[in-house]
Amino acid sequence: MAFLFKSPLFRRQFFALVALVALLIGALAGAMLVRTRSAIMERDAFIVASYRDAVAGSLDHWLDDRITDVRRAGEEIERVAAGGASLSGLWRRFRDLSGPGEPFIDFLLADEKGDIVSGRAETITRAVNVADRDYVRAALDGVPFVSSLFQGRLTGSFIFALSRPVEVGGERWALAGIVSLEQLAAIVESLNLQGLGSAYLLSDELELVAAPGFSREAPGGEGPAPNPAAGLADALGTAERGVGAYRNLDGELVTGAWARIERLGLWLVIEFDRELALRPVADLLSFLRWVAVVAFVALFFLAYVLAARLIQPIERLLAAVKQVRDAEYRGSIAIKTGTELDELVLSINDMARAVRDREERLRESAATDSLTGLYNHGKIVEYLDLELKRARRDGLPVCFVMADIDHFKAVNDRYGHQAGDDALRGVAELMRSLVRDADLLGRYGGEEFAVILGARDRAEAAGFCERVRAAVEAKDFACSGTNLRLTISLGYALARPGERSGQELVARADRALYAAKAAGRNAVRGSDE
Ligand code: GH3
Ligand code: MG
Ligand code: MG
Repeated sequence: MAFLFKSPLFRRQFFALVALVALLIGALAGAMLVRTRSAIMERDAFIVASYRDAVAGSLDHWLDDRITDVRRAGEEIERVAAGGASLSGLWRRFRDLSGPGEPFIDFLLADEKGDIVSGRAETITRAVNVADRDYVRAALDGVPFVSSLFQGRLTGSFIFALSRPVEVGGERWALAGIVSLEQLAAIVESLNLQGLGSAYLLSDELELVAAPGFSREAPGGEGPAPNPAAGLADALGTAERGVGAYRNLDGELVTGAWARIERLGLWLVIEFDRELALRPVADLLSFLRWVAVVAFVALFFLAYVLAARLIQPIERLLAAVKQVRDAEYRGSIAIKTGTELDELVLSINDMARAVRDREERLRESAATDSLTGLYNHGKIVEYLDLELKRARRDGLPVCFVMADIDHFKAVNDRYGHQAGDDALRGVAELMRSLVRDADLLGRYGGEEFAVILGARDRAEAAGFCERVRAAVEAKDFACSGTNLRLTISLGYALARPGERSGQELVARADRALYAAKAAGRNAVRGSDE
């Protein structure tokens, strides 16, 4: 496995694949989360707004019903008063509409001067004058009125009044139904938010007026609690009815919807806990984290297998190519992958074969003499050293023969160079026919030939030289149309046991040749040294 990571090709493929898939998974998961989140937020905003509308609607209805209650009560008072009957009997009926569990906590009837004529509280006497109340003043002026929230003079609790004018004995009196804040708050509190969030009422000054679990202090206590939710204050400033995200009183992020209850001068606010709403997203995120881990591990192995499948044959091919190279292109690669690589293997094998053939041809042409086709000087020297080494190792004899055509210069001079070349080829051909396969025949230079002979002794060497000399002498060489007669002189030298230097052996053969020349040519001499 580790060796694969050493391959740059593998590393590139592998990490590119891993990065690509990781990116894909990340992008998909990210998109999914963003979509889910925005869908939840949207749904949340919709639900919270629906709740708000429902509550605002029921508050409005409730208020309308109470206004109707007050109107009916007023009409009844007017009817009874017009009939000249006492109002006290009527008053008992109003009492049924008020009190604990009833929509009103009290009904007040004030005369034209604003003095309370009747009310539920036993303590009410003519001494109480409510002419300074805006709702009494409006009713005495002939206008039905809904007061905003105020602290009741008698009970000290927060109340508001619904008033209207009534005609009693030709005078205009004021009838007011008193409603406590708790009754209104009960409607808000009765809203079941399933623990998702909360609903509350705020005054125009953004003071908390009613909320689940929020209890108002008795008279003399602290007033409505201030609302520090600046986020909400900012939101309320934008529209009478809206939906937004902000931090609430407890500093939690919420999705809130608000509406102004114009007739009461109150704000209704409904908030959903955003963390709670987004829990599915959080759950999804932690689930995705696991999916990502599992996917990454799976991906790692998948990428590894894929990349390895691609790289392994290449690695094998590379090793095989190196083997072929190290053996100087001998042998061929035997790999079958069943892929395009097989074609590459075939091509490499072809190439190796071509290189090998060409090399062999080059080596041969570098070793042969172009005129005669015999081995050249270099090859003779190289081969002689090899033979001497082998002779030392195996104890075999080596004999070096040097042959030089007599008066060859004269041949050139007389018959021309072309004829001289032909004669050289003729002598070469003749000598080739006289050597054995184990011997090495070469052109040593000019018109000199050399033979490395496996002769065991002087007699054998001398015999060979004599056969050459006699054959040359006896032969007619056909050169450029003329028949030439030639003679040749030969000198030979046998390697001494343990002889190392080919040069020394050649020099001795050369001296023997010189002796043959000196003896009148067309002769054979052996080295005595
Ligand atoms: P000797 O050996 O008997 O003393 O006389 P020689 O005339 O053979 O003497 P020498 O070795 O001085 O001359 C060799 C001549 O061989 C000289 C050159 O003209 C001729 N020769 C050498 N190489 C070639 C060749 O490749 N082609 C031809 N045509 N002649 C060559
Ligand atoms: Mg010569
Ligand atoms: Mg010569």
